[in-house]
Amino acid sequence: MNVACPKCGSNDVQSAVMIVATGTTTGESRSQGSGIGATLDGDIGLGLYSGSSTNTSKTALAQRYSFESSGPVMLLGCSHWALGIICIIALLVGLASDDSDSELKVLCSLVFFFSSFGTLLLWGLKRKRLLKEEHAHKETIDRLWVCLRCGCEFFP
Ligand SMILES: [Zn+2]
Repeated sequence: MNVACPKCGSNDVQSAVMIVATGTTTGESRSQGSGIGATLDGDIGLGLYSGSSTNTSKTALAQRYSFESSGPVMLLGCSHWALGIICIIALLVGLASDDSDSELKVLCSLVFFFSSFGTLLLWGLKRKRLLKEEHAHKETIDRLWVCLRCGCEFFP
């Protein structure tokens, strides 16, 4: 491979894809609960590493280039929780109110409907944005090379 670093001219360079691949397979210890991001992307390893590994610097680099800033957990933002709570409160109030109070029941049904709809809508939008980000990230990683000597990132 005749790729040289544009900054220091070193041949000790590696593609970001390879760094992620090797960094995530040579590590010796995986931290517990690291499977969180794994469902988003099967190609780029998303395991979080902790403790000792055979090649710390490479593992750190792999972490840097793997896409783990937004796991599925991140799909649930504050707005989702807020809407979800409103949704549950509306449902409970609606169920608790007696039949004579029909206006309250209608109001609660409406609030329930819109808050649950809003939650789904927000979730859908966020998911779409994340998939787009992930795609852009992958395209960048596919072309990116890194100099292992000076740390320069470049597109050959
Ligand atoms: Zn360099």
